[in-house]
This record gives sequence, structure tokens and C-alpha cells, in this order.
Amino acid sequence: MPMPELPEVETVRRGLVHFAEGFTISSAQDLHPRLLKPASVAPLAAVVGGKIKEVNRRGKFLWFTLDRDLALVAHLGMTGQFLFPQKERPMPGHVRAHFNLKKGLKSRELLFNDPRTFGWLSVEELTGGVPTSALHIAVDPFDRAFDRDAVIARMRSRKAAIKSVILNQEIMSGVGNIYADESLWRARIHPEISANELSVKKIGALVDAAKEVMAEAVEVGGTSFDAMYINVNGESGFFETSLAAYGQEGEPCPRCGRQIRRIAFGNRSSHFCPKCQVR
Ligand SMILES: [Zn+2]
Repeated sequence: MPMPELPEVETVRRGLVHFAEGFTISSAQDLHPRLLKPASVAPLAAVVGGKIKEVNRRGKFLWFTLDRDLALVAHLGMTGQFLFPQKERPMPGHVRAHFNLKKGLKSRELLFNDPRTFGWLSVEELTGGVPTSALHIAVDPFDRAFDRDAVIARMRSRKAAIKSVILNQEIMSGVGNIYADESLWRARIHPEISANELSVKKIGALVDAAKEVMAEAVEVGGTSFDAMYINVNGESGFFETSLAAYGQEGEPCPRCGRQIRRIAFGNRSSHFCPKCQVR
């Protein structure tokens, strides 16, 4: 399974809104020595008694806004999942945190399961409604505060390859390797062109394509829940059906039929159409 990117994290957020908002955290158990990020200002138990007012997201950071000054922050890393276990189903094998939630007579369990342990939780203070971990992250294109013109100008001031610039979470957050390749393909931009050689119009088209492709993935992901658990992990099926460039090496470009090429990009890869995306 690919690493969760913004659309998957947004799908998780929507699932958590649906199943956890308005509930009070009646217990919180930390089950793994590396669950809590070192920057956590308090043990996990500090969230007990807190009512979940909202579940928010910036980039790939999620947080539960509680009726107190501290928020419960989560990052899914590579394999982190939030699960609401159903009765008589086996428990997943890598539960790192266990919560009981209550709302009136309703109660449910919430698990944080993470086989690879790159995900984490933390208890953090909020500044302007944003937890400390996410303060350095730029807003993503879905955020009300997103300033499209300012983002385009900042991208155009960079000499680096446009692919690195669109992945730079301090300029615009949310775009990972998969959606970078997809949005570059949609905007017909070669991944290795320097950002400062591209027009305002071209970078604008790229930013719009990134938002569009991620919105489509959220649409698809929003309807899929695992049968075993109420799995809000956002495994959307989008990856198998809708990718034009990412992971499609040797496959025909859906626009022109030329074979998609893969080139090295740091320790990862870039996928692009050599006919539609010329240097
Ligand atoms: Zn093409």
C-alpha cells in the first residue's frame, strides 16, 4: 500500500469526524514505547476527559481539537490507521494506542494501529488553533487560508526542479510523490524543469491540477470502509484505477499513447510522458 498522502489523510479525517466528533475520551492507553512523539508536552492520559470538538488537518497532520487547551495530534507515517473495531472481530495486530469514547449512552473504541511504527501521536499546545508540530507546515490548497497567487510567486522564485518545489511542504503542503507526478502530468510539465523557468500561468495550472487530482481522490476514498473494521484509513481504490503517470512505467500515456517513462528522483522516482511533458 502506498504511503498515505493528503487525500488519504483527509479521508481519515472525515471518518473521524463522522465516528468520533462530539464524543468524550473516557480512557487513553499508550501501548508502545515510541508511540508518543518526543515533543509531546504530556502523556497520552492528558487527553482523558476531553470532548472532541473538531478533527482538523493541515497537510498530513491530523489533530483532535478538545474542549481544553491541549490537542491530540496524529501523523499516520507510512502505515498508521485509525480503526473503530466492530464486535466479534479479531483485533488488529499492531495496536499502539487504545481509546474509549463516550457520548451519552453510546460508547465505542478507537484504535491507533501501526505495523511500521513511523506514525505517532502527541499531546500539544495550540497556537491560533494549530498544534506546534504543524506550525511550520504551509497551508494546503484546500485550506481557507490558501493564497494561490502568493504560492505561485514563491514557487517561481525557486531555481530547483519543479518537482522538488511542488513537494516542498513549506511552500504548499499536502503534495507527496504520487500526486506530484499526477499533477505534473495533468499540467504537461516535465518534472526536471527549474521552477523559475515556468510562467505564472503554467505554475497556476500545476497548482490547480494538484488540487483537482487530490479532490478526486478524496471523492473516491470517502466511500470506502473496510468490512472488518470501520477502517478510516482511506484506502481509496484511487491508486488502482485513476493514475495516469505514477507507477505506470511502460504503460501508454492516457492522453497521447506514448509510453510513460520513469527516471530517478533522489531515492525515489518520477514518472512522466516524454511526449506531453517536454523539457
Ligand atoms: Zn502523453
